[in-house]
Amino acid sequence: MNKLFSCQGCKNNCTIEITKDDEHIKYNGYKCSKGLSYAKLNSAEESKIVTARAILTNGKMSKIPVRTTRAIPSYLIADVIKLIENTKVEAPVEKGTIVIKNVLNTGADVIAQRRVV
Ligand code: SF4
Repeated sequence: MNKLFSCQGCKNNCTIEITKDDEHIKYNGYKCSKGLSYAKLNSAEESKIVTARAILTNGKMSKIPVRTTRAIPSYLIADVIKLIENTKVEAPVEKGTIVIKNVLNTGADVIAQRRVV
């Protein structure tokens, strides 16, 4: 399977090609590590939205459900979940509040999934 997309990492707009076979995924056309990260984010079969629960302080519950605003590459999912589970959020929190900005430089934020007062 081949997939072409235009990297939005900067104004160069490099065309990146993702090639998949049964065993390997190859990325060609990127000019920097940021482009490679974007390519991995665009490889749908190896990325997904991450949901987890962060620590809630000063609230009625001890945890708050959160999710990423973009798909996270599979190789980073465990690290993102670990980071979220160790993140403290102080109530009150509005739904959609950014809990972690640009988590692990993926371009995705982690946001609260519900309002907690
Ligand atoms: S691969 Fe790097 S240089 Fe090319 S558009 Fe993306 S961020 Fe810019």
